[in-house]
Amino acid sequence: MGDRWRVEVDRTLCIGSGMCVGHAPDSFDLDAARQSHARATTADADEKLLAAAENCPVEAITLTAADSGEPVFPPEE
Ligand code: SF4
Repeated sequence: MGDRWRVEVDRTLCIGSGMCVGHAPDSFDLDAARQSHARATTADADEKLLAAAENCPVEAITLTAADSGEPVFPPEE
């Protein structure tokens, strides 16, 4: 793909399930309060990152195209 994505975690939604860390351990960390943090605000488009967003039980992870701002996940309806 070669695209860059902006990665955001809504910590008001995150319930600390750790699913994102399981799917994309290079992209997310849980802090001491079990809140997820993206390691970087932008990252190369990546299947693991998409899987992390898709499998977050509360859809706390938002991915957008870094250049255009178009939604990657959740997809535009
Ligand atoms: S998968 Fe979602 S709820 Fe679970 S730790 Fe990651 S951001 Fe939080």
